[in-house]
Amino acid sequence: MDRTVCVFCPLKETKVLNFTEETLNKCEYVLECRKTHKLIGKDVNLPNDWKIERVGYHIRRYRNFTALKSKYRKKEETDNLNPAIPSTSTGR
Ligand SMILES: [Zn+2]
Repeated sequence: MDRTVCVFCPLKETKVLNFTEETLNKCEYVLECRKTHKLIGKDVNLPNDWKIERVGYHIRRYRNFTALKSKYRKKEETDNLNPAIPSTSTGR
């Protein structure tokens, strides 16, 4: 069986969607925020490349994952995230 697996959970019963560049960028962004704030979901393993086959997500899990309270979001969120932004941490 070569069904796509969900990065958020091991369930295979329901349809798993493939990542697109946009959805993966979004997940990467949210994952960074979750790591920063040590929120649930911070340990999710995202694929390095959205083109990788057989790795996807359940839409419900995705919505849950990306539903981040605004206080946890980094400041400059836009709808068009630039994946090439260097992550220069402004030390604390
Ligand atoms: Zn899932």
